[in-house]
Amino acid sequence: MEAATGGVAATQAKVRVIRGGWLIDGNGGAVTKDPVIVVEGKRIKAIGKKGEVKEPEGAQVIDAGKYTLMPGLIDCHLHLAAFNCASFANYRVSIWEVTPQLQMLYMLFHAQMCLEMGFTTLRDLGRATSRGPFVFEACAVRDAINAGIHVGPRLHVCGRPIITGSHLDLTLPRAAARNFDLSFTADGPWALRSLAREHLRAGADLLKTSVSGGGGTADEEPDVRNMTLEELEAIVDEGHAFHKPTAAHCFTAESHKMCVRAKVDTIEHMVFHDKESIAMIKDSGIPVTPTLSHRTDHAIEVRAKIGTQRNILDKMKKIQPYTFETFKVMHQAGIKIAMGTDLGPEPEIGTNARELELYVNLGMAPMEAIQTATRNAAEALWLGKDLGTLENGKLADILAVDGDPSKDIAVLCDKENMKMVMKEGEPWVDKLSATPRRVIQFEPGSWKIIDNA
Ligand SMILES: [Zn+2]
Repeated sequence: MEAATGGVAATQAKVRVIRGGWLIDGNGGAVTKDPVIVVEGKRIKAIGKKGEVKEPEGAQVIDAGKYTLMPGLIDCHLHLAAFNCASFANYRVSIWEVTPQLQMLYMLFHAQMCLEMGFTTLRDLGRATSRGPFVFEACAVRDAINAGIHVGPRLHVCGRPIITGSHLDLTLPRAAARNFDLSFTADGPWALRSLAREHLRAGADLLKTSVSGGGGTADEEPDVRNMTLEELEAIVDEGHAFHKPTAAHCFTAESHKMCVRAKVDTIEHMVFHDKESIAMIKDSGIPVTPTLSHRTDHAIEVRAKIGTQRNILDKMKKIQPYTFETFKVMHQAGIKIAMGTDLGPEPEIGTNARELELYVNLGMAPMEAIQTATRNAAEALWLGKDLGTLENGKLADILAVDGDPSKDIAVLCDKENMKMVMKEGEPWVDKLSATPRRVIQFEPGSWKIIDNA
């Protein structure tokens, strides 16, 4: 019957009215008072001040009069399927003892933890497993959420065309076999094009590659080159041919310059810089994700607890001051920053908003920090048309937050303050109504740490 009538659901889109106390719309302007947002189905139908917006009769009213309304948050760089300390005791043991199939379920759980904290969109930048790249699994989690059979944030998941011996190759132990059903590494432009095509065929939303060495791996200098410009250009071009962006891991000024020349879509991390690299990135307009959460002393402490060897911890400590300095230089130069945490094995999944606190501590205004996780992040993911700001016609990813994050960014870090998390018009977290709703029904510590039985 539905098919014959053109779909009953489409003609009966639920209408909700959200009455807020204050509004941060994601455009960076001043906080305004008494906002009203009308949501029809998945999208914002009208937004304005109380009294100026017509509230449709019969709409469900969500009274958030004591709270600040703002766009759903976006983390552009994390690893949801990592053996995070919230779920695993020792990530090195887990690599061998946990199957990718089980890890998929943890990926979903980790994604839900982020949704509870107001992150309605996450860009997952993959993981290596003992059974191969995690592309099919990550796509399955995304698709299960999109199909509505599991609650979770919107996921963008990656394929990973990378070269032999690259940073992302070395996230698998050197001794691991690498003959998988889905190829893991390739070398040379045409082989990398083929690998990119293979991972896109598996369903990836974007490509992730590594252009320089990195931090979290053993016996690898962070400043080594990972591929030639010709190889990088091949990957980016292949992605663009399929209308998919490429995110490039890089630590060095040289790799940043390669990214600009190859027209990558986002530059991941920061770490080192020189004058020329700063000018080139600024002129290109390419967004950079800082991933400072992965550089803190807290991250290093957590890493030590979950079994990371000494030489990696030392390397993490060594690159810390360079990264913080590069953040300041990039910010002052006016480079576009899109929030990314690199939450993986550490720190705790769900603490993504602490990244914004780090930006503010390094000199960014709180409102600008909010924009890195809303408008800038949406644009970095090619989702600016639908997300990142609260405006007529955009998808209704809306938070009601206790406190004013434009004055105190830390309010976004406390789960208690997330009074409502709406994704595409549906309040998945709702502590405002008589029948509260949550995504995750239990508290940290109440689940089993699976490799610590
Ligand atoms: Zn990463």
